[in-house]
Amino acid sequence: MSTRYSRQELFQPIGKEGQKRLLASKVVIIGAGALGTASAEMLVRAGVGSVTIADRDYIEWSNLQRQQLYTEQDVQDRLPKAVAAEARLKQVNSGVHVRGIVLDVTPQNIDELVRGASIVVDATDNFEVRMIANDAAIKQGIPFLYGACVASYGVQFTVIPGETPCLHCLLEHLPAQGMTCDTAGIISPVVQQVAAYQVADALKWLTGYEVTPILRSFDLWTNERSDIRSVSSLKKAQCPSCGLKTFPFLSYDRRAKADVLCGRNTVQIRSAADIPPSLKEVALRLKEAGMDVLENPHLLSCQKDEFKLVLFKDGRALVHGTSDIAKARTIYHQWIG
Ligand SMILES: [Zn+2]
Repeated sequence: MSTRYSRQELFQPIGKEGQKRLLASKVVIIGAGALGTASAEMLVRAGVGSVTIADRDYIEWSNLQRQQLYTEQDVQDRLPKAVAAEARLKQVNSGVHVRGIVLDVTPQNIDELVRGASIVVDATDNFEVRMIANDAAIKQGIPFLYGACVASYGVQFTVIPGETPCLHCLLEHLPAQGMTCDTAGIISPVVQQVAAYQVADALKWLTGYEVTPILRSFDLWTNERSDIRSVSSLKKAQCPSCGLKTFPFLSYDRRAKADVLCGRNTVQIRSAADIPPSLKEVALRLKEAGMDVLENPHLLSCQKDEFKLVLFKDGRALVHGTSDIAKARTIYHQWIG
C-alpha cells in the first residue's frame, strides 16, 4: 500500500504533499457515461479521498464500446450505471470513499449533491443538467470542469467561480446542442482526451496549482484544433449565472415532467406521486398480467410489442420505443398505474 502512489509522488509538482491534498479532496462527477467512467477511474486510481458519481441511467450494450467501468455481465443484470460504477471503483481502490448515486439531477437536488465538493466534473450528455450544474457550482464557489464530446470532436473548459467566464457566458462558443452520441455516434479516443484534460485540471486545482483558463476544442479525426486563450474576455458582467447571480437554471421545477431523450427513441417520465410505486408490487401485477419482467434491487424492466419500460426505485421511468410524450405517458399509466 505504501508504494501505491509512488509514481505520482515522484512527479515533482505533486510530491508527497500533493498526494496528501488529493486524499483530503472530494470530487463529485455528474454522469457515469463515457466521460464519467473515464474521469472516475483516473481520480480513484490517483487517490482522491472521496469520489461521488451520480447517474440516472442503466447499462445497455451500446455503452460497452466506450464506458470503461462496465462489463457484459452488468448489461445482462441491467444494473444502473451508478451502482455498477461504485462496485468497480471500490475494487480498483478500497482506500477511496466511493459513492454511486442513482439520481436524475434536478434543480431540486443539485445543491445537496455538490455541497462540500472540492470540484464538480461535468460528464453529462444533457444540456439542461449541465447548465443546472454550472449554476450550482458557481453558487457554492466550486470549480466546474466542463467537458463534452460527440463523434470525433471534443471540447473542454474549466470554470473557476469569480475568475473565469462560466458556461452561461460561453453559450455561443459551445458546440451545437442538437448533436448527441445517439445521433452522430462517437469514437472512444475523444472521450479519453476530454477526460484527460478534465482530470489534469482537477489534479492541478486539488494540489494547489493554478488552472490556466483555455477553451479547448479538437477533432481527433480531422486533426483540427483550437485553443482560445483569451477566454477571460468572454466573461459577461451581465451573465445571469456568474454576473448577476440569479441562477436561472436552479429556479424552475422539473419534478413532474417528461423529457424526450434525444436520439434514443425514449421518453423519461417522472412520477408525480410523492411516494414512488413499490417495485415489488408493480412487478407482481405485471407478471399477473402475463408480462415478462426482469427485476433487480434497483429497477424493473418489462417489454411488450415494440415498447420497453424501465422503472427505477425513485418512481422514474424510461419508456423506450417512442419519442411521443403522450404515448409514453399512456404506456406508463397502463403498465405502472
Ligand atoms: Zn457566466
